[in-house]
This record gives sequence, C-alpha cells and structure tokens, in this order.
Amino acid sequence: PVVTRFAPSPTGYLHIGGARTALFNWLYARHFGGRMLLRIEDTDRERSTQGAIDAILEGLRWLGLDWDGDVVYQFARADRHRQVAESLLASGNAYHCYATPDELTAMREAARAEGRPMRYDGRWRDRDPAEAPAGVKPVIRLRAPSDGETVVEDQVQGRVTWANKDLDDLVLLRSDGNPTYMLAVVVDDHDMGVTHVIRGDDHLTNAARQGQIYDALGWSAPIMAHIPLIHGADGAKLSKRHGALGVDAYRDLGYLPSALRNYLVRLGWSHGDQEVFSTEEMIAAFDLKSIGRSAARFDFAKLENLNGLYIRGADDAVLIDAIETILPVLAPDRGLPTALSPELRAKLGAAMPGLKERAKTLVDLLDSAYYLTASRPLGLDDKAKALLSEEARQRLAAILPALADLPEWNAASTEGAVRRFAEENALKLGLIAQPLRAALTGRATSPPVFDVMAVLGREECLGRLGDQAS
Ligand code: GLU
Repeated sequence: PVVTRFAPSPTGYLHIGGARTALFNWLYARHFGGRMLLRIEDTDRERSTQGAIDAILEGLRWLGLDWDGDVVYQFARADRHRQVAESLLASGNAYHCYATPDELTAMREAARAEGRPMRYDGRWRDRDPAEAPAGVKPVIRLRAPSDGETVVEDQVQGRVTWANKDLDDLVLLRSDGNPTYMLAVVVDDHDMGVTHVIRGDDHLTNAARQGQIYDALGWSAPIMAHIPLIHGADGAKLSKRHGALGVDAYRDLGYLPSALRNYLVRLGWSHGDQEVFSTEEMIAAFDLKSIGRSAARFDFAKLENLNGLYIRGADDAVLIDAIETILPVLAPDRGLPTALSPELRAKLGAAMPGLKERAKTLVDLLDSAYYLTASRPLGLDDKAKALLSEEARQRLAAILPALADLPEWNAASTEGAVRRFAEENALKLGLIAQPLRAALTGRATSPPVFDVMAVLGREECLGRLGDQAS
C-alpha cells in the first residue's frame, strides 16, 4: 500500500509551496487508496512554535487535505533517533568526531577560499577515540562511503548521481545529544512505513545523504519525487510580492479552498490540457510522471479566474458560510458586523444568484452586496453621486408615490411601475433606473436594479429613495 507524508517544519505559516506539496502527497495517497501521514518536524526548538503548528493544521483542514492517523511530532521521537545513531556506532557505520569549533571553522574557511562547499575532512574517521581531547563533547558522524557514487532514481528528476568523494561524513547526532534533521527524517520515514517521499527539489541533495543513511542501516529508501519549486510570474524565486503568502492569506483574500486546490494541482502537474478538476477527477488523474521538471510560475490572474468559476458553481449557502468565515477580517474596514444576522443571511441568500455572476473573490461578492449590508443613509461612491444630479433627485421624488402604492412588491411589479412612469413622462428608462440604482445601492454598478428592489423590500427601498429624493 502507498504511504505518503507531509512533513512541514513549524517555523511559519503554511505557505503556498507547502500547500502544494501537501496536496500532491494527498492526491497520490488517495489515488492508490493509501494513506497520507502528517509529521510536524519540530526538532528546531528555537524556531518551532505552537502558533505555526496551529496555522499548518488549520490551513490543511481549510484546504480539505485530511491526513491519516495521529499527527507525528518529530521532537517526541528524539530517543528513538539517538538509539539509531548508537546502533550505527555499534555497527561501525558511524563514529565519534571530536573536531573542535576552531578546526571546523578552519575547514569552512579553506573551502570558501577555494570557492567550494564546506567538506568535513574525515579527521576522526579512523582515529582512536583514546586520543580525544579533554573537554570536547563529540558528535556522531556517519561513516559515508568515500568512493563510488550515490544514486537517486527520482520519479521527477530522473537518475541523479553524486560522487561520494563530494559528500562528507554528515553529523547524525549533535554534541548535545540531539539528532540532526537528516537522521530524524530517515528514521521517521522508515518507522512510519513511508513508501513515497514527495517534496520540493530543494531537498534533492538531502536525498543523496539520506540514501547513505538508509544504506548504512540496511533499510530500503522510499521512492523519491522531488518537485520543482514555484516561481513568480517573472520567473524569479517566489516572494511575498509574487504570492508567497500563507494559505490563511488566500482565505482572507476571498479564495475558495476548492479553487485554490484546483489552482495548485496545475502548478507543476498537468493532465493533457485540462484546467478544471473536481476533487474526484484530480484523485483519479494524479500521477508522478506528469509532474514537470521546470519551475511552475505563480499566476494570480489564473487563480482569480478559477475562483470566479468556482464561485459561480458553488451553492449559495456554501458561499454565505465562506463569507461568514472571513467576516471578522473584512468587517472592520466595511463597517459591517463580524457575524451575519439571520435577516442578513436571508437577504444575501436572495441576492446571491445575481451577485455571484460577476465576482472573482468572496471579497468582490461582499463588496457588491454593499447595498444589502449597508445601513441608511447609504454612503455614495463618486460615480453614484454623479448619477444623482438635482434633476435625477426630482425624478426619484416623482416616482415615489407610484412605488409606494404598488399592490405587490417584487422585481416584475417594480419594473412595471418604473416603465410606466418612464413612458408617461417620455423619459428613457435609464434616466430613472440609473438614479434608482445609485440611491438604492450607493454604487453605479450593481446586480439588476429590480432584483435589488425585490431583495431590499418596499420599506427599505422607499426609505433609501426618500433619503436621496428632493
Ligand atoms: N521539514 C522539511 C521542510 O519543511 C521537509 C522535509 C521532508 O519533506 O523530507 O522543508
């Protein structure tokens, strides 16, 4: 059975690249009816925070990426990691290294002078520990092969080889007894029964080093797939400006999780020229061989278009719930309450068919629902003010009685009354409809004005028109 894992370090939010890695692991596991595990790599005690752990779990839940079994916390497994390091020592595959900080600094500087990466020179590899200097606490290093090659048969990158002479004896256990990332990942992936490691290609060289640890332990390494990182639209490394935001920021910008998922699956993976995938379709189609080898570019316009598509296709109730989720973030700037009253929910529900046709984000939806959520007297934007000339205000005053007397109040009856009024006064419909819109919505564009009137109801409409009529 296929077992994948997502293994974030909780040093920040769940960023967009991490979310894509999680999605790929989730899809691969679901495709094969396998399991996706979640491991929080919290061994860096200084930089790991509970806030980041919460943000990661919350982000995954919001995206609908569920994991199997309990969350594994790497730091809690440190005893097991130490035990494996000791076993490598016992089998002769690892050794104590007493190199002092000064010696290591000298090696680093020599490397810098020669313009090559730092390599530990193996000075304690074959030296008798009896010669250990007093007071130096040793690290445990892997006795890595010094000649030949280390090969990773990567599912995305192909066959990648490293000359072993270029890979030094890496540290497994630090002098304070703490395991290194390299050791912890290998031991955890093995103990968790991980069959496939899908992660960013910034870990490719780590795969070689981890391969050496697997070999030393006599364990077989999981299948590897290193996916190219995400770049900005201009091809440069992804930065905040390009969209390297936390998943929570996308939520607050008004993206639907379904749309973001669809967007992310196409960042680096393709299936013919299909762009829109339901979750079931993604699961059915996902594979490793269709992951591209070049960096995917983040494209906000494409994400927006997909989001608009998902908004148009979503149930009204789902959209209203999603709006409510982000209302605490949006409300202050818009003078709105942070939760929707039952009346407001009902009004939003009635207006939703018209609203969702044009919105690219939930924020757009809420902004075009301003006429619903605002209270009297309405704030008018500049275009609405321009539509409400003195003449236009007089026309509003003139039509008020006809509207007040309507036996029924709905889109058809209000439209009928406005049309009759236009004919009787030999006015173009727009000369009345536009000021009506401006007075009722505070904006120059809105859903169809007679739908707006129906949703607002007679009393609110007459009140708003009265506020602007002269
Ligand atoms: N914790 C590592 C990271 O967040 C990932 C390690 C791995 O996937 O093997 O970059």
